[in-house]
Amino acid sequence: MAGIAVCPGSFDPVTYGHLDIITRGANVFDKVIVAVLHNRNKQPMFSVAERIELLKDVTGHLPNVEVDSFNGLLIDYVKQKQAKTIIRGLRAVSDFEYEMQAASINKKLGPEIETFFMMTNNQYSYLSSSIVKEVAKYEADVSDIVPETVEKALRKKFSQS
Ligand code: ADP
Repeated sequence: MAGIAVCPGSFDPVTYGHLDIITRGANVFDKVIVAVLHNRNKQPMFSVAERIELLKDVTGHLPNVEVDSFNGLLIDYVKQKQAKTIIRGLRAVSDFEYEMQAASINKKLGPEIETFFMMTNNQYSYLSSSIVKEVAKYEADVSDIVPETVEKALRKKFSQS
């Protein structure tokens, strides 16, 4: 009965915090679609194609996880994929207000869709893509917070810039 769930986000780039949520989601739902948002308001470090490639690489061992991207309203995408659930990770209190707004508007636009929140693993509660980029910029060690392929991709990006 668990059905399909969509796990949306920027994933710029994917971290162990994201991977924790995706893996735990994949243990609960029949299928998890990780959906990279084309966000015109944010200036990303990695292109959508690069983010998809990294996500595919780090979730390749999870047979019921698919990686995709979407434009426009999340709720339309979720309906189009015939998913019943949106998965979001919750870190600190600071995530709560935004997530509550998003879940409320999504409930209004698609009452049949549920938002499923997962508490972060304590180990990753401080972790965000922005922090990872900041740390990597100064060539500090990020091997505890991102998978190896992401570490390499970050190194490559910073050596180009
Ligand atoms: P967005 O811009 O939509 O917040 P992110 O890529 O930052 O996209 O996050 C995607 C999802 O992963 C969100 O639900 C976010 O709360 C969750 N997430 C991000 N980092 C962590 C973490 N360290 N632990 C748990 N969940 C996380």
